[in-house]
Amino acid sequence: MGTIQTPPGTRDILPEEIGYWQYVENIATQILSRAMYQEIRPPIFEQTSLFERGIGEATDVVGKEMYTFTDRGDRSLTLRPEGTAGVVRAYLQNNLYAAGGVQRLWYCGPMFRYERPQAGRQRQFHQIGLELVGTGDPRGDVEAIALASNILKSLGLRSLKLDINSVGDRSDRQRYREALVEYFLPYKEELDPDSQDRLERNPLRILDSKNERTKEINQNAPNILQYLGDNSQIHFEQVQQLLGDLGIEYNINPCLVRGLDYYTHTAFEIISDDLGAQATVCGGGRYDGLVEELGGNSTPAVGWAIGMERLIILLKQLQSSPVRVPDIYLVSRGEAAEAQGLILAQKLRAEGLTVELDMSGSAFGKQFKRADRSGAIACLILGEEEAVNQTVQLKWLQTKEQQTMTQTELFNQVGELREQLGRHRKQ
Ligand code: ATP
Ligand code: MG
Repeated sequence: MGTIQTPPGTRDILPEEIGYWQYVENIATQILSRAMYQEIRPPIFEQTSLFERGIGEATDVVGKEMYTFTDRGDRSLTLRPEGTAGVVRAYLQNNLYAAGGVQRLWYCGPMFRYERPQAGRQRQFHQIGLELVGTGDPRGDVEAIALASNILKSLGLRSLKLDINSVGDRSDRQRYREALVEYFLPYKEELDPDSQDRLERNPLRILDSKNERTKEINQNAPNILQYLGDNSQIHFEQVQQLLGDLGIEYNINPCLVRGLDYYTHTAFEIISDDLGAQATVCGGGRYDGLVEELGGNSTPAVGWAIGMERLIILLKQLQSSPVRVPDIYLVSRGEAAEAQGLILAQKLRAEGLTVELDMSGSAFGKQFKRADRSGAIACLILGEEEAVNQTVQLKWLQTKEQQTMTQTELFNQVGELREQLGRHRKQ
């Protein structure tokens, strides 16, 4: 009988890779908390209707990609395909708006979409996302974009490009939609089947098509920026001005659209040339209509999500995995020594040192080999003699210097030991 494997499109994130994940999460937490964003953790499954309303039935995500199931109580539930709908639901359900002002929120965790697995595309993937709820000010759009950019730059990713666009407000988009349908109708037979389907339901999404012939037809399609009303125009200009003030470079891409009614004004993507077909690392935009769509008062908001897997593919191209190395590798042999070893390890950990305890019970020679391989700075050795005398040997693994001390001395001098370890770590 074979062993059971992970389902397609899912994978284990193994200890050898986890350093990257923790590194990204730490940097993101730091940068977001400096801007007073707080983490929120909504459940991973929600009522299916939340996503039908919150993402829209005309989207691929809801139409084709959701993991929906009926639970034992006959409820239709869905594993979240994205984070925004759940955050907005939590905002409404918990009256977070009652605090007044804006809510600055972020989240991090797994998302689920039934897609064709390939490099940078999985069925369980992870996002870090940010939502700024309660302001329609263009500074909000730019704060959000700047924080995404800060995170990516702090991770050392520099050759990324920011594309921005405006999808206007509801009435701008209505006019644009009509113009698009009028433009595409004569080409209907030449469009790819997906785009033909979108012609009635969601024509803006045709601009997103990867099909070659459709892309050709798109080249002469009407440009959304020509359909912006005065307010939308001003908002978009202010966003550009503020990005410029912060020294953030951008490119205007009029084909960058989010096709749903509650997406408004700014849409943006951060793209890498080093990811092949799945090039978008971060996608976001303003969604002034969503809170109302989900039953709240009209409340402007803006947000983004970074795809962790794609981000980590890029990080791996830059640096090897941050590995955890113990300060001390503790070697012991013999019943009394092994018992004392465990106690020593626990006491040193309580002093803030990283201690790996060898539990193999094998010959000293083998334990020493493992100590070397662990990358530890020092080794503590407890044999039968040490156990009887309540002593321990401290060996510096690089210089091979070795000294014997009592266990009491070791703890009395733990401050000095910590400094010595620090000095060796820097070398
Ligand atoms: P794509 O066009 O690549 O399908 P999307 O528009 O569906 O992306 P969003 O819903 O905007 O993506 O999600 C934000 C980010 O999450 C994406 O830019 C990407 O980095 C990541 N992402 C989305 N779907 C997946 C997936 N199936 N596997 C891995 N990462 C994903
Ligand atoms: Mg997608």
